[in-house]
Amino acid sequence: MIRQANTLLANYSNDATDVNFNLLNQALPGIRDKITEQTELQAGIMCEYAACGTEAVRKAFLDTVLAKDSSEMRPLFDQLLSQITLGEGVDEKFKHRFLASVLQSSKFATGAGRVKELVGLLGERKVVIDKLTYGGPKAGLEDFDTDNPKSEKLNARDPSADAKLLKEAGGNLAEFVKAKRGTEAARVENPKKTEIRNVTVLMDSSQQLLPVYYGLTPQKQVQAYTSPMFTAVHHELGHVVNALKGKGGRKADKYTADDDDLLFLTDEEELENISLDRYSDKAFTDEIGLPERIAHHAFTGLDAATPQLNQDFMKQDLQRWDERTYKVDEKRLGLLRKIKSLVNQDWSPYTLNGVRPAGVTRIANALAALQTTRKGVLQQLNAVRQLALGSHGQLSVARSKTTSKFYEVVATMKFNTPEELAAAHDALAIAWSPMSPAKEAPKLSHWTPEEARRVEISSKDKSKLTEFPRSPAD
Ligand SMILES: [Zn+2]
Repeated sequence: MIRQANTLLANYSNDATDVNFNLLNQALPGIRDKITEQTELQAGIMCEYAACGTEAVRKAFLDTVLAKDSSEMRPLFDQLLSQITLGEGVDEKFKHRFLASVLQSSKFATGAGRVKELVGLLGERKVVIDKLTYGGPKAGLEDFDTDNPKSEKLNARDPSADAKLLKEAGGNLAEFVKAKRGTEAARVENPKKTEIRNVTVLMDSSQQLLPVYYGLTPQKQVQAYTSPMFTAVHHELGHVVNALKGKGGRKADKYTADDDDLLFLTDEEELENISLDRYSDKAFTDEIGLPERIAHHAFTGLDAATPQLNQDFMKQDLQRWDERTYKVDEKRLGLLRKIKSLVNQDWSPYTLNGVRPAGVTRIANALAALQTTRKGVLQQLNAVRQLALGSHGQLSVARSKTTSKFYEVVATMKFNTPEELAAAHDALAIAWSPMSPAKEAPKLSHWTPEEARRVEISSKDKSKLTEFPRSPAD
């Protein structure tokens, strides 16, 4: 069911049409409700497990669920079970839902790693199960007013170092996060961590949640995806583990509007838990083959207050997370716009007969209406490349150097990675520069400052930047 939801979410991410959005909104509530039914069944099984006193039965059950010998996980799981208590007036089913989540995540190395860490750090403490009437699960310290300060790491965040790192990452949040990896040693543990008392897990009681995250695929494209609820519980347990280690985030160190896009990470604690820790959400999604969540704010979904996804919001979200990371969609669309602007220039000064070349006209016709979805833009880029390739292959004695250059540059463009796209923009800017003194002034809004600078230099001295551009592969 998760896979089915993710197929629809990927489909909309790639091709954000009304039809694909409606398919998504038609299917997701039903998928969520079926998952809820399964969660209840699983909780029922956990209830029986907890009541079962026969060791051999428990062992056979865990061996089956984990699909391996459970001798390592079983004592940990049973210890956790024995240390669970219920908050006042909380139904036992919340305890069993929690245990079902823990058990399911224990099937994976990342989930099992965190459960081991948690039980190891728990000591004699109780895990108090409580419930929330909205949103996703949460977890932390039971008496947070008293105990949270004892769980915070000692060293403060360095906002100027973060600002420098973000700048070095070119404002790209994903590159910032990468640069942050391996800095865990810098977290100084709180010596008062030993005084921390019980921990708590608040399970969502509404059961109307289907989380939707925004992540990056290995191709650095933004994609909406959902993930099983046990990964949400896994995330919450990460906060508990960090607190018990005395390395939790400092309340005083949240990212603010002064930190630009780092604001979307919320704080170092979420950054650690989502992206950096060895049992992070990233480690989990890598293991189960889902996109990598970009930031704490990269989240939406269905819940009690949001029975339907909103198409405008989702479209905007996909676009904004692209802008905050590798800008693959933005660069592809930008390339289409540039080619369109170029083919619609006055070509008469650059051709021998003063007429726009037929191949250029064919490209102009293909770009009469620009596509907007990722799929549409890619199709159009490929179509334009094919047209340029066709013209490039047809030798013509009457063809000017400018026209030849244009065909060659467009025919050799690649659009898959941010690097290929940057190279394509670059090659086009150089190829276009001899056309700058055209009667029609260049539309600078389509060009980066660097490209505009090149165009300006070229307009003053035509011998500059008019050499035959090399294809990105060279
Ligand atoms: Zn969190």
